[in-house]
Amino acid sequence: MQNTVAKVAVVGSGISGSVCAATLARNGISVTLFDSARGPGGRMSQRREISEDGRELLFDHGAPYFTVTNPDVLSVVTEWESRGLVAEWKSNFRSFDCFTNKFVNTEHQERESKKYVGVPGMNSICKALCHEPGVDSKFNMGIGKFEWLEHENLWSLIGLDGQHLGHFKGVVASDKNIASPRFTAITGQPPPLDLSLAPELVKLHDIPIYPCFALMLAFNEPLSLVPAKGLSFTNSKVLSRAHCESSKPGRSSTSERWVLHSTTEYAKDVIGQSGLEKPSKETLSKVGNEMLQEFLSTGLSIPQPFFMKAHRWGSAFPATSIAKEEKCVWSEKKKLAICGDFCLSPNVEGAILSGLAAASKLKGLISTL
Ligand SMILES: Cc1cc2nc3c(=O)[nH]c(=O)nc-3n(C[C@H](O)[C@H](O)[C@H](O)COP(=O)(O)OP(=O)(O)OC[C@H]3O[C@@H](n4cnc5c(N)ncnc54)[C@H](O)[C@@H]3O)c2cc1C
Repeated sequence: MQNTVAKVAVVGSGISGSVCAATLARNGISVTLFDSARGPGGRMSQRREISEDGRELLFDHGAPYFTVTNPDVLSVVTEWESRGLVAEWKSNFRSFDCFTNKFVNTEHQERESKKYVGVPGMNSICKALCHEPGVDSKFNMGIGKFEWLEHENLWSLIGLDGQHLGHFKGVVASDKNIASPRFTAITGQPPPLDLSLAPELVKLHDIPIYPCFALMLAFNEPLSLVPAKGLSFTNSKVLSRAHCESSKPGRSSTSERWVLHSTTEYAKDVIGQSGLEKPSKETLSKVGNEMLQEFLSTGLSIPQPFFMKAHRWGSAFPATSIAKEEKCVWSEKKKLAICGDFCLSPNVEGAILSGLAAASKLKGLISTL
């Protein structure tokens, strides 16, 4: 596809890859960013659906919001806020006990922490970062193989379809399945990154994950008897959280839209029965009905939705942190950085910090790139 040597390839346009790519580009390193998905965002994606009667419905079906405690992340987020890419979501959040069918006192932390959302969608941040000057973004382009050319001291990237995608002096990869047998279980192909290429990579072998189902719902009228726009559930085997999409800043409020999240245990049970492959329509429809039923049984007078669709996040949350100190996995010899929430903490803040750390490793080698 390209014969000239571009400087750095970043694989993955989730928040860690996007932050890393934009930081490198701002430091004068040209970046080519690849993602197998249709658009940027990863687990901060926004889903566009059309109802049977032709209405456009947008849902943040991955992370509904994020919080920040780290000062470095706060300064990055404050800059995004000044550009209008994020805003504070000032709604009320409550906890609901599914055993007593009553609201319980919200935990202190949940009440106090400022909740940020991308505007007008969670993917807005990644979208903006992927299109910053110096970042050349390519979507619908999954990487099937990272090949190290020892004599040239370069990386060669090969697409999932076998296409040669160019040579790069440095590489950043931001997906936890990149060197995992899970990649083979899902795609039927060998993992793109060979763990034996660098001793540091051994930590990447089969990172444990927690799955989750998200159920997107749209209603004709507001759920006026639900006294909060964000709910966390206790004593439910099926539901963990629910959020009102249409109450977030910058969203259309023409229809009331909610996203429900399943518990990890429920998602594990379903995947245990249906397998790791892409879930069938029947499985998603059964999951959707069960999650909706649990929501209806809260006794909060929830009407029937006019739209519902379930989505499976097979690798929603990493169950471990593999690089707490360095915040990314780094092979200086091969100029290879691996970043993502699985390095630090299973949330947007951890992913941002990891993306910044990966960029700073490569920036440190700027003279050799
Ligand atoms: C349902 C759900 C709820 C959540 N709730 C919250 C929350 O309330 N607060 C919070 O802070 N966080 C939450 N999170 C977690 C948060 O979304 C993640 O921690 C964060 O988005 C991870 O970013 P990342 O860049 O590390 O990975 P990802 O977003 O997963 O990005 C990886 C990218 O790599 C791409 N990719 C993978 N393999 C390849 C390949 N071979 N070739 C090319 N591209 C590839 C993928 O398409 C993807 O875009 C939630 C996540 C989910 C799923």
